[in-house]
Amino acid sequence: MTDARALVWFRRDLRVHDNEALSKAATADSLLSVYCVDPREYGPREYGGADSFRFEKTGPHRTRFRLDSLSDLRESLRERGSDLLVRRGRPETVLPDLAETLGVDTVYFHTWPTPEEMTVEAAVKSALRAADVDLRRFWGHSLYHVNDLPTSYREIPDTYTPFRKSVESDASVRPTFETPSSLPPLPDAVSESEAGTLPTPSELGVDGPPDDERAVLDFEGGETAGLQRLDEYVWERDCLREYKETRNGMVGADYSSKFSAWLNEGCLSPRRVHEEVKRYEDERISNDSTYWLLFELLWRDFFQFQLAKHGGQFFTREGIRERDDIEWRDDETQFERWAEGETGIPFVDANMRELNRSGYMSNRGRQNAASFLVNNLRLDWRRGAAYFETQLVDYDPCSNYGNWAYIAGVGNDSRDRYFNIVKQAKQYDGDAEYIKRWLPELESLPPAKAHEPWTLSADEQREFGVELGVDYPQPMVELEASYEKLR
Ligand SMILES: Cc1cc2nc3c(=O)[nH]c(=O)nc-3n(C[C@H](O)[C@H](O)[C@H](O)COP(=O)(O)OP(=O)(O)OC[C@H]3O[C@@H](n4cnc5c(N)ncnc54)[C@H](O)[C@@H]3O)c2cc1C
Repeated sequence: MTDARALVWFRRDLRVHDNEALSKAATADSLLSVYCVDPREYGPREYGGADSFRFEKTGPHRTRFRLDSLSDLRESLRERGSDLLVRRGRPETVLPDLAETLGVDTVYFHTWPTPEEMTVEAAVKSALRAADVDLRRFWGHSLYHVNDLPTSYREIPDTYTPFRKSVESDASVRPTFETPSSLPPLPDAVSESEAGTLPTPSELGVDGPPDDERAVLDFEGGETAGLQRLDEYVWERDCLREYKETRNGMVGADYSSKFSAWLNEGCLSPRRVHEEVKRYEDERISNDSTYWLLFELLWRDFFQFQLAKHGGQFFTREGIRERDDIEWRDDETQFERWAEGETGIPFVDANMRELNRSGYMSNRGRQNAASFLVNNLRLDWRRGAAYFETQLVDYDPCSNYGNWAYIAGVGNDSRDRYFNIVKQAKQYDGDAEYIKRWLPELESLPPAKAHEPWTLSADEQREFGVELGVDYPQPMVELEASYEKLR
């Protein structure tokens, strides 16, 4: 049976390919696609709970990415004879209003397992049910479907390896949904002029992002750019064949896939990436690298299902391990120095400045910057995670809070995880190319000194023209001593 009038509520699924909600709604007589610009997602917010603090919910990089993505989605829907209605307001208010005015029979949407998304969804559901509208809910943002896991998500292991092994041996990835080539017409009462304009970042109270040519990539939002990046990375530039060897790099567009931003705003489906990898394995080469990209996507899935399992517990300071033996500190000045990239530890500072300027940071960088905050400074890990939430172009609640909790020792690892930052810097940025890119004030230093400028003698400072405490900060903490406390 088909619905007479369908409404698709777009959330972080801003694509027409492999979109189950859209595909299923495409059999209706008329179709309305709606995106709600929810004011709760912008501006300063309380973190919530005990020891709360304030932070900016969505910063310039992700705001721009999202607005680009909406514009691209609207274009794709128009090409298919439809449109995207953009409304500013809470979905639980906007959607029932529209449903009532237009006589919508069924609302189609994707679901996410995280507390904020679930709260909104619950409010939408109850308002629509009260208005006698049917609801159809789909799971579509992970590689493996939640219903295809070998056990219920409530029973998955809390460590990655057993999870991965069980999924790899006892589950399979579903095929993608076909991209509709045309869509049902808009309801009679809606014309193109009523589609609504997209807000500008400043209308949302967010600055425009800085333009910095040092960014690894110009992260242009939208499905078109996401599919283009997939094609370029896998086929045109043939990077997949050596992904495992390059993935720990730090400079340039191609050391890793950079798919994350498109995956997390839903411009790119992980199942589509999976299909491309499989095709590449058939047509070019199947090796450790092709497998490793799927291995990393499975980390993404792991955190999605972990958040589904543990819910709000993930966002508490004690984490899922309920650890109350760590004495977290609160020091605003120290936190600001970390956030601004002014710690005096070049590997941390370069990464934080890259994040602030571009919205992106490599996985290696994220591990070290996070470890410094939580292990060397022992500042509340949730503040670091919330800062990443603001800044990251590819922020995802599960991957972000899951990884932060992991490094803070309150998440999915029974060991304490800390990184030897100088050792890591020398290993992954041996010639100091990366840190000099983001800290040009250290350009004149030989690599070893650039990684440890605090070892410069007064004579060397004069010789290289780098005065500590003037041109570049003195380290805010004595690294070795701060490790001692952890051993
Ligand atoms: C403290 C910290 C915070 C993080 N916050 C986020 C976040 O908010 N959003 C996010 O997508 N990733 C996050 N990550 C994971 C990882 O750093 C990024 O996914 C990766 O750097 C994105 O670049 P890429 O797409 O080129 O990755 P690639 O190396 O090309 O990996 C391919 C894909 O696998 C997934 N992936 C890879 N590593 C991880 C991982 N450790 N955890 C989960 N998924 C992974 C991503 O979807 C990624 O796009 C975080 C890691 C740390 C240590």
